[in-house]
Amino acid sequence: MTRTLLLSAAVFVAACGASETPSHDEPGKTLVPAMPAGYGSAMVVAANPYASEAGAEVLRAGGSAVDAAVAVQAVLGLVEPQSSGLGGGAFMVLHDPETNAVWAYDGRETAPASATESLFLGEDGEPLRYFDAIASGRSTGAPGAVAMLGMAHSDYGKLDWADTLEPAVELAEAGFVVSPRMANLVARMGAFVLHDDANARDYFFVDGDKAKPIGEGFVRDNPAYAETLRAIQKNPRALLEGPLAQAIIDKAREEPRAGALTLADLAAYRPNKHEALCSTYRDYRLCSAPPPSSGGVGVQAILGALEPLDMSATGPDTVLGWHRFIEASQLGYADRDRYVGDAAFVDVPTDAMLDKDYLASRSALIDPEAALATYTAGELGVAGADSTREVPGTSHFTIVDANGLIVSMTTTVEAPFGSQRMVGGFMLNNQLTDFAFRPVDAEGRPAANRVQPGKRPRSSMAPHIVFAPDGSLAFTTGSPGGNSILAYTAKTVVGMVDWGLSPQDAIQLPNVIARNGRVRLEAKGLPEEETDEPQRAGPAQEFGMDPAIIDGLEALGHEVVRSKGEISGLHIIALDDGALVGGADPRREGTVEEVRR
Ligand code: GLU
Repeated sequence: MTRTLLLSAAVFVAACGASETPSHDEPGKTLVPAMPAGYGSAMVVAANPYASEAGAEVLRAGGSAVDAAVAVQAVLGLVEPQSSGLGGGAFMVLHDPETNAVWAYDGRETAPASATESLFLGEDGEPLRYFDAIASGRSTGAPGAVAMLGMAHSDYGKLDWADTLEPAVELAEAGFVVSPRMANLVARMGAFVLHDDANARDYFFVDGDKAKPIGEGFVRDNPAYAETLRAIQKNPRALLEGPLAQAIIDKAREEPRAGALTLADLAAYRPNKHEALCSTYRDYRLCSAPPPSSGGVGVQAILGALEPLDMSATGPDTVLGWHRFIEASQLGYADRDRYVGDAAFVDVPTDAMLDKDYLASRSALIDPEAALATYTAGELGVAGADSTREVPGTSHFTIVDANGLIVSMTTTVEAPFGSQRMVGGFMLNNQLTDFAFRPVDAEGRPAANRVQPGKRPRSSMAPHIVFAPDGSLAFTTGSPGGNSILAYTAKTVVGMVDWGLSPQDAIQLPNVIARNGRVRLEAKGLPEEETDEPQRAGPAQEFGMDPAIIDGLEALGHEVVRSKGEISGLHIIALDDGALVGGADPRREGTVEEVRR
């Protein structure tokens, strides 16, 4: 418990709200759910126990869900630097119970003003080797997560901005115990280039020795991080102007593969605030971030193709249920891959992608007896075929405060440890590798997600808030996992809406990622030697798919790759009979913290 927050009164004020019939807006437009009445408790679910506890501490001190989000992000950047942090970007979806507005805050990074379409092409005109592009200065965009939180805090903060950062300052000074997952990733990335950066070398390796990555249980302090937070306490834009901005520029401009980010690029950075992208699934309303994330439109397109089908009649133990999920995913991903980019730069046919008649026509393509031979995007625009690659880093957390303010936020430095470069105690992002490296496809058509100056790269992050038929909160959901985020997240919606599962059971459904004709799925009891993709293997899991169902899917013609474990990090808060119920993904290290009044 921090000094500052102990001084604040731990008071929850229950908000009372009138009930209101939900509107029936068109897909793609913001939908207005009824006002919730406030809850008897508050809740935080985040990917690391220190982060969940920091959020809970802020809630106990009378902070709002946004205050708690600032605390959670600041602690995550310290204890889970492989996934997100001060140097990264994020999308936050928020429901305001007083106005019924659903907002999408966009803290996505931007490309430098000098960036060209050939940012990730070598002198031969061919794309750079993927990891070379990641581990470079070219991959770093102007960071947006902190500025975005500053914007959300000025809208919805109740505590002082500086106080919300205090738990992280104190933890950085006192030191934290390195988690198994962080230790594992330091050891794995240490074998590549993490060690090449002088700051990262001193921080992540004992005595700077490459052979000695800090291990699980190591107590790591981070005075530089505390100092950075102190600067941010004084100015939420401290990373975008002044000495920290200069330090970011200097680091991004180091060789090899120096970047071109300038102070002017950082000073020009602005977070955005849009109406959330909302559509319906059966009687539920789903709200998420609009482009430049493809997560919201992608998840909602997958679900839209399932809507005409009776999924509740074909549960998680049936071949037909998963066959339908797979086919809807293949079709949804095809549209998402082709059409989504930054809507400030390219025409993204979001409304057309979520049009109910269009989605019914996609659904009608699904043959219950056989997998389709090919999965092509619908004719919705002029964008060329997409070549974007994405690797999984990232963190998802969700918070509901006792007044009913709801936050669902996904946050990322992109690859594990971002660009592998460290400054001010935090990692620089490599978010710009989320652009398509090839600006045009084989037919010369420009890709929607090509690099353009000042543009935000396409994301897959899909933080969702789902509202029940009466307009109250049904549940929040979202996950890390690169482009698998769409599949992970859609699975939880089907699990909870169609199959009546609890948040935890929905999270523990097998992950099934069907994209580009292939189906990668978690298989139950798979011995290590039978794992088709050992590099994806996580801890042995008991909740994979039954072999008999996998056999049934193969008999329908699906090309199945068996995965021993996916790295989803699904975090959910549901409202069940007036009580908040959380779920945390056992594939990562997340915890649920409930704060009772
Ligand atoms: N950078 C990716 C995105 O914004 C996320 C990567 C991940 O989830 O691991 O979609």
